[in-house]
Amino acid sequence: MDVLQKIQSLREELNQHNNNYYVLDNPTISDYDFDVKLSELQALEAKHPEYFDENSPTQRVGGTITKNFETVKHDSRMYSLDNSYSKEDLLDWENRIQKVLGDVPLEYICELKYDGASISITYENGRLVRAVTRGDGFQGDDVTNNIKTIKAVPIKLKGNFPEKFDIRGEIILPFAGFEKMNQDLIEIGETPYSNPRNTASGSLKLQDSAEVAKRPLDCLLYSLIGNNLPFQSHFEGLDKARSWGFKVPKQSHLAKNMNEVFDFINIWDKNRHTLPYETDGVVIKVNDLHLQDELGYTAKSPRWAIAYKFKSEQVFTQLNSISYQVGRTGSITPVANLEPVQLAGTIVKRASLHNADQIEKLDIRINDTVFVEKGGEIIPKIIGVDLEKRPSNSEETIYISHCPECKAELERKVGEANHYCPNFYGCPPQIIGRIQHYISRKAMDIEGLGGETIALLFNNGLVKNYADLYELKKEQIIPLERMAEKSAENMINGIEKSKNIPFENVLFAIGIRYVGETVAKKLAKHYKNIDAIANANLLELVMVDEIGDKIAQSVVEFFDNQENRISIDRLKSYGIQMEVSAANDTSVSDKLSGQIFVVSGVFEKFSRDELKKVIEDNGGKVGSSISAKTNYVVAGDNMGPAKLEKANQLNIPIITEDDFINLLNGN
Ligand code: AMP
Ligand code: ZN
Repeated sequence: MDVLQKIQSLREELNQHNNNYYVLDNPTISDYDFDVKLSELQALEAKHPEYFDENSPTQRVGGTITKNFETVKHDSRMYSLDNSYSKEDLLDWENRIQKVLGDVPLEYICELKYDGASISITYENGRLVRAVTRGDGFQGDDVTNNIKTIKAVPIKLKGNFPEKFDIRGEIILPFAGFEKMNQDLIEIGETPYSNPRNTASGSLKLQDSAEVAKRPLDCLLYSLIGNNLPFQSHFEGLDKARSWGFKVPKQSHLAKNMNEVFDFINIWDKNRHTLPYETDGVVIKVNDLHLQDELGYTAKSPRWAIAYKFKSEQVFTQLNSISYQVGRTGSITPVANLEPVQLAGTIVKRASLHNADQIEKLDIRINDTVFVEKGGEIIPKIIGVDLEKRPSNSEETIYISHCPECKAELERKVGEANHYCPNFYGCPPQIIGRIQHYISRKAMDIEGLGGETIALLFNNGLVKNYADLYELKKEQIIPLERMAEKSAENMINGIEKSKNIPFENVLFAIGIRYVGETVAKKLAKHYKNIDAIANANLLELVMVDEIGDKIAQSVVEFFDNQENRISIDRLKSYGIQMEVSAANDTSVSDKLSGQIFVVSGVFEKFSRDELKKVIEDNGGKVGSSISAKTNYVVAGDNMGPAKLEKANQLNIPIITEDDFINLLNGN
């Protein structure tokens, strides 16, 4: 086989594996084997630039920067959909259609209405050539480079596809991925995203496609557009699209009549919350394409389709007051205090207002009657104000200018949505939040001490800094509320034990803005000890793998601060780990590269965290739950029965900690 053939066969194979994994949900090789093949292809492409192909699977990682997205006219317009809210509306719609078409029997396709960002993707000769956002329906933005990083979108088709066509669908962010992104943000003290849909559509307009590649976006497709396409009905079209490699949701359903449409609606109205992503309704389409043609379009939407909107659970209530919360990093979040009201099975008293812009946009005022809705998110949101019920003497809400906790004047950086309290060292919730972060599980993991207790200690003047924890005496703790000899002892022991926590956790714990768990690991690995990090300048820091300007800047600022330096020196003097321990450092290898482990139960030779660390230090990954991607489950005592069953079901080897040590030593 010559080089070109080898390259082509690897590309084809990798495309198929991507399809198996992301579209069919049925991977047939391990991640490790996939990575090996991908590296092989990368190496060949690097050696043979003459065979470069922008649609090679190696291009999926992104890396192109788009400063301005080019405006592109849609070959055929992207229409909206008419909405309906009841079965009567749907019967009316059917009547209107029947009037145009006469008394032909009508079949419908029922699809879920996905809540994301719509996209139109053009394929020519089986290759993805362009992806354009909906824009105003006539023209949109060319986001091809970003779309190519989404693995569920095929870049090369298989089977017997038409020469040229557009396929349309929705770019969505499933709940799990959205929550993971938010967890990562919260961990470094950033404001989380407000909902999956906005995050999905915002992702499409990111300038750096490598950033898009990191986001867990998905793409669901539902319509084909082109000349002389090889099918007569919408349903056949969906089937064909599946066979060419597209992700067409399997819920799409052929209904023989309107009653079957109602059945579909009833089923999904009840079950929609079990889906991994947000859906706000059902789209009903006439199946026969000739009939679709005959029906045509109104000024704004097809006559042959209609959306049915699920009733979102919504109530109105009164806004009693707005309070402002100060987070660990000083970020201010306005919160609406509502007259308690029953909504979707819970009593709602509060709703987030996100930031000053949101308040302005809603023009929300004290004593307003507001509409509250519970969507996919956990925290209910205010979607509007009933202006007719507004008291005549109501006054516009003026956003606070000073911190409600410490009275410092608030700041708002250009381009940031939130206001900040800059009084980092004097603002109680920031101080408490920082110590709470310090003791948290992924940081110093201090047992016997919780978030409430930190507030209690602070309020009693016992700690104002995480270093103060190490000076605490039992006698000071016992007199406090809900404290006793035993709990005080546990607390002191827990604090003492934290002196053994590895340096990388310490680095995460001290709360440098933007330094999350992963970044802390990177920095620890690179610099080995705290002094080296403290003395690094901006230029050196940005040279470290995955450390960008924002993080580097924040690290420098942290160590420029005298108070921080003092705290760090104190931690050092108490014996906190301020360097990578020799034992940890030598055990770094690539032996477990590409392998995914799930750790379950209690072990003798390691703590769970140690075990996880050994896996990661040797190039492996630790998964949080067992899936088809897991290579091994390392089981200790008391492994959960659900995990055991799952592992057996998926045929994943379950190994003991001794097996694991053997594996690591290459036996
Ligand atoms: P609207 O924006 O409310 O007018 O609804 C039209 C939009 O719904 C389209 O632009 C699509 O982005 C979106 N949509 C979501 N799911 C579907 C579906 N199954 N069929 C058609 N459109 C859909
Ligand atoms: Zn403050």
